[in-house]
Amino acid sequence: MDAEERHLGLDRHITRRDFLNGVALGVGGSLASAWLTACGWSVETAALFAPDRPTYYPPALTGMRGSHDGSWELAHALRDGTFWQQVGAVTDTRETYDLVVVGSGISGLAAAYFFRQRAGNDARILLLDNHDDFGGHATRNEFRVGGQLLLGNGGTHAIATPTPYSPQARGLLTALGIDPPALTAQCVDQQLFAALKPAVFFSKETFGEDRLVVRDPTQPWAAFLARTPLSHAVRRDIERIQEAPIDYLPGLSSAAKKERLSGVSYQDFLLTIAQAHPDVIPFYQTRTHGLYGIGIDAVPALDGWGIGLPGFQGLELEPGPAPRMSRTAAGAATPNREPYRFHFPDGNASIARLLVRTLVPEAVPGQTVEDLVTTRINYARLDRPGATVRIRLGSLAVRARQVGEPRSSREVEVYYTRAQRVYAVRGRGCVLACWNMVIPSLCPELPEPQKEALVYGAKVPLVYTNVALRHGTAFHQLGVRTIAAPGCFHHAVSLHEPISIGAYRYARTPEAPVLLRLVRTPCQPGLPAREQHRLGRLELLTTPFTTFERHIRDELGRMLAPAGFDPARDIVAITVNRWPHGYAYEYNPLWDPEWAPDEQPCVLARQPFGRIAIANSDAAAYAYTDAAIDQGYRAVQELFMTWGTRTQHA
Ligand SMILES: Cc1cc2nc3c(=O)[nH]c(=O)nc-3n(C[C@H](O)[C@H](O)[C@H](O)COP(=O)(O)OP(=O)(O)OC[C@H]3O[C@@H](n4cnc5c(N)ncnc54)[C@H](O)[C@@H]3O)c2cc1C
Repeated sequence: MDAEERHLGLDRHITRRDFLNGVALGVGGSLASAWLTACGWSVETAALFAPDRPTYYPPALTGMRGSHDGSWELAHALRDGTFWQQVGAVTDTRETYDLVVVGSGISGLAAAYFFRQRAGNDARILLLDNHDDFGGHATRNEFRVGGQLLLGNGGTHAIATPTPYSPQARGLLTALGIDPPALTAQCVDQQLFAALKPAVFFSKETFGEDRLVVRDPTQPWAAFLARTPLSHAVRRDIERIQEAPIDYLPGLSSAAKKERLSGVSYQDFLLTIAQAHPDVIPFYQTRTHGLYGIGIDAVPALDGWGIGLPGFQGLELEPGPAPRMSRTAAGAATPNREPYRFHFPDGNASIARLLVRTLVPEAVPGQTVEDLVTTRINYARLDRPGATVRIRLGSLAVRARQVGEPRSSREVEVYYTRAQRVYAVRGRGCVLACWNMVIPSLCPELPEPQKEALVYGAKVPLVYTNVALRHGTAFHQLGVRTIAAPGCFHHAVSLHEPISIGAYRYARTPEAPVLLRLVRTPCQPGLPAREQHRLGRLELLTTPFTTFERHIRDELGRMLAPAGFDPARDIVAITVNRWPHGYAYEYNPLWDPEWAPDEQPCVLARQPFGRIAIANSDAAAYAYTDAAIDQGYRAVQELFMTWGTRTQHA
């Protein structure tokens, strides 16, 4: 290790992989088999497939999480046709359920919930998931710093969507005890936050020098721009784009302007319609990353208007969505949207945990939404023989087949692999709440057009990294709460939202430990959207944790240097939540045809097949929790329709 690496603290013992290795080897080394390691599973992952051990507690694991090692390798072998060469005979568990759900994300958990609503609480349900935790994207990261609990979301961040929650999705949240507006009013703890502002970090690689510039949103843009390292011409053009009421498309009606803007990217709008200096592009490039996973080169200008990007204030566009907009942007452009939003400290992992509390109450102690936040899940209770609902983690479904002809089938057989074995279970019905692109491998007998539709979308890769700091003083000294860092490895850095709920208390003083969220969305500007996502996914799966750690230490050190931040001293733990298969792919008017609503690939893809129904937010082509719930609901109703008016027991 060289001097620079030591300066960054890469030699420090923090909670990351080195810690995990120690724990895993200590508790479960004997579980690791040559077969698992031959399949690319790490020793620690093998140890984790022992949820009945008291040490099994995935939320507290650090290092590389999200789609962690051990969760995806065999799925890729299945896709590549090499899986069945690696495994032995199938063991029949002789377990029979009323419903087998593949995927324990919010959609799969919601499907189990809705199934019980119709079938009764004695319905027997098995949920399978390839990850070591339930919740899918909605997972939780826990840290202990100086005895204090810090919670963060590993993926799904908040109850928030550009379109209103459906009666079913809203009804489910209400039944779980979640009232987003009321919780926001009660739990947002602005005490320390009120004085903190947004900032932009200009890095030397992209802008020629390192400089953090705080922006006071109450001040004109010129005041901020004057302190940046940008040239005079670029500052002038950014100020114009942000504030000048110029109509760049004079003589056109609002509808004609919208039509024109739907056919060009936001980047092209800036360069060719607003005639901005080319050097303004790096300043705006990653503005769309958080919502779309790609930059302004691949997002339509009209979507940019819908989500509130600047430059349109003089165009006098009529409020409201237009035909050629993504669903996200159309929703965002809808006036007078009802505020329906809440961020739990662990994001929507709280929804997953509340759903599990209704399904397997003995695994989730407590009674209220407030006590849930600090409750410790008893993972050993998730999959108990004799329980009506069982959640089996570390279990990748590899086959779902009708027993007999799809039309007359009365059962579905599902194979799953866990550790070195393949097991079979049977269900009277099956909901595939897993990712669309996996389904053709599970059900190769599906009609070809349906399989094509299932693989049409490319899930959006993204990373939410949580970094625990010994204290938050650097942020308070600098007066910042969020940092946009265009061109950096992580394009956004922010303090986690100040939420105090139940026994969980957000930092009360600058000296208290805090958690940062860093966001990275790997993509390849200039290429079509789906290609950018596929290349980004490849990049994520081949980037080791050490690369993340080096960038995190280096860039945080440079951003926060003016406040004396020392990455070697101040960083206590790092969890990189890597989601190569992140957001559901949403159709993008620049890159996708304009289908009739019932001809969209997601609609063709989600058609039921015998006793198999298809859920997941992919089935809506809409990456939001309400979509995940709605699709779980629809899939269950379809199963009951298949079964006619009989109950599931028929
Ligand atoms: C980083 C990130 C942030 C997000 N933030 C928000 C937000 O703020 N608000 C919002 O509404 N939405 C957000 N989303 C969107 C999020 O995808 C949805 O809200 C929701 O959590 C998706 O739930 P799901 O059940 O449809 O899919 P998933 O959560 O992906 O669950 C599917 C599960 O099925 C498993 N699976 C796949 N194949 C198999 C197999 N063969 N066998 C067994 N299991 C399998 C997967 O591993 C996964 O665990 C975010 C997503 C990401 C990635």
